[in-house]
Amino acid sequence: MYMSRINQYKHTSTLALRQRKAHLVRSFKLAPDLIHASLVERLLKCGKAQCACHAQGPKHGPFFYLNRCFAKGHFQSLLLKSEAQIAQARQGLQAFAHAQEMLDEISQINYELLRRGEPTGGPEA
Ligand SMILES: [Zn+2]
Repeated sequence: MYMSRINQYKHTSTLALRQRKAHLVRSFKLAPDLIHASLVERLLKCGKAQCACHAQGPKHGPFFYLNRCFAKGHFQSLLLKSEAQIAQARQGLQAFAHAQEMLDEISQINYELLRRGEPTGGPEA
């Protein structure tokens, strides 16, 4: 999970903070394919009792699942059935992570501006 760096901007000038934020706000594009979830890979045993997977033999897979938490203690799991779906899922996760990093950086700059008693409003503020 992405973690914020603490006090990253403490020694940056207010002008540089504003310029960095203006750049972030201008370059932020909402990716229509983003997905907030996690991709997990599983090797599984099948339903056939005689299959080698139940002994020392290799298990089946890998199978790829997209897991999504939607409330505390609740999650959905989606089996991805094709390479195209797996590729789309990877792309969506990457797009979400990138958007989250940019939003978090803007948030950190606004936090620092507030700490200095500076206004946070407006893309060019
Ligand atoms: Zn099997």
